[in-house]
Amino acid sequence: MTDEQQQRVAAFLDAHELHAPPAYRLLDLAAEVGELAADAAKSSEYGASPDKLDVKRDELGDALFCLYALADELDVDAAAALDESVAKYEARIDDAGAPGSDAKE
Ligand SMILES: [Mg+2]
Repeated sequence: MTDEQQQRVAAFLDAHELHAPPAYRLLDLAAEVGELAADAAKSSEYGASPDKLDVKRDELGDALFCLYALADELDVDAAAALDESVAKYEARIDDAGAPGSDAKE
């Protein structure tokens, strides 16, 4: 079953004829994540004031929208992909005590 939020984004893309090839969806995602990074860098004064870090919710939403749109264009079930990812991290924690792929090194 496809993720409800993914279906919502797909319906929006359909309604507004905003479908695009996956490569361009990926570029759009990278651009939106870049906006998050730019806001984080500026708000924290490039790390000099980490307590001032500000990640805007609407920009996080933009990145999520792009990620769901990319999954839709690739015919990937986002919920299933997330389930696989969480299972992978859980297995790594069970095996090596940490979720990172370099935990065993
Ligand atoms: Mg944005």
